[in-house]
Amino acid sequence: MNLPFTPIAEYVNISRAPFLISGPCSAESEAQVLASCLPLKDLGASVLRAGVWKPRTRPNSFEGHGEKALPWVIEAKKQTGLPVAVEVATPAHVELALKYGIDILWIGARTTVNPFSVQDIADALRGVDVPVWIKNPVNPDLALWIGAIERVAGAGKTKIAAIHRGFSTTDTHYRNAPMWQIALALKTELPDLPLIGDPSHMGGKRAYLAELSQKFLDLNYDGLMIESHANPAEAWSDAAQQLTATDLAHLLACLSMRVGRQDNTDAGFQDELATLRQKIDHIDKEFIQLLRLRMNLVEQVCDYKIAHNVAIFQTERWNDIFQTRNAWAEELEINPAFVEEIYKLIYIESIRKHHESQKLSQPKNVI
Ligand code: PEP
Ligand code: MN
Repeated sequence: MNLPFTPIAEYVNISRAPFLISGPCSAESEAQVLASCLPLKDLGASVLRAGVWKPRTRPNSFEGHGEKALPWVIEAKKQTGLPVAVEVATPAHVELALKYGIDILWIGARTTVNPFSVQDIADALRGVDVPVWIKNPVNPDLALWIGAIERVAGAGKTKIAAIHRGFSTTDTHYRNAPMWQIALALKTELPDLPLIGDPSHMGGKRAYLAELSQKFLDLNYDGLMIESHANPAEAWSDAAQQLTATDLAHLLACLSMRVGRQDNTDAGFQDELATLRQKIDHIDKEFIQLLRLRMNLVEQVCDYKIAHNVAIFQTERWNDIFQTRNAWAEELEINPAFVEEIYKLIYIESIRKHHESQKLSQPKNVI
């Protein structure tokens, strides 16, 4: 798909790498917004954030001060000279945010799931040149994420970015499961779309922020959205995942930026990489040749069973295959779940082969 997207650096002054948007989960008071946001300028944040309307999973949690908080965010913008971003979930939010001079809008994970809400927001944005960043939907559905991006792009926006904050699952290690493959598939589908990692909502705990931030950088994301608060322990929302400015500075200092391969001109490095890639190509060729040999045997088994009128599919054989291959994988320190996935694909292909052979062996209709 070839949608035009404007790189973030064309509308935000990026003062440090990685590009950083930071600020509190919620705007609680003017003093709290200023105390949380003012130190971020010296840390090199390029954009400030604060939640003014907070979609909460359960009622009776703090749902944001709404319009009353917008001047506090604008005050942080005035005092730092940095652009500010808030979450919007309805056309009324869009109208108010723009009226007060908010620079960037983002659509939250609980809104991206609803095509009606996203379309309403997109319609409210028509004719306004404001950047819109779109978080992944809470459920792991790539099409829903792409759909939201298409709806906003359809309203004439090109200053769009995607924010990867992870997906709701029963896996409780991180607050939201990363499911990296979904974000990478998004990037494959829309290669020019800027991608921002949100380790705060993905991790849900301060302890996970460094490892997730590094992972985003290793995967070449364009930047990070990290929640920070002057006094995280007292935060009215997401207390466990927010960092003080001092802790954020430590985290940033520990991250290593990876350069793209083409940016590293060191000849030794390029040679070594080429050699390793040649070896991988060689192994892959052998791997495919082995698959061919395996398929030959599968075809012979098919013919043999058909000739002897034996049921073509025996589940015990496949149960045995899954068990033994998983054990062999474990012996070689390969993730058995990964090997199991490969054998599931082989199994599907074997079924297809069986059906194909069966069709060929059926007598042709005689007229
Ligand atoms: C937020 O950024 O504060 C927020 C509510 O995030 P999400 O939509 O990712 O849950
Ligand atoms: Mn939050």
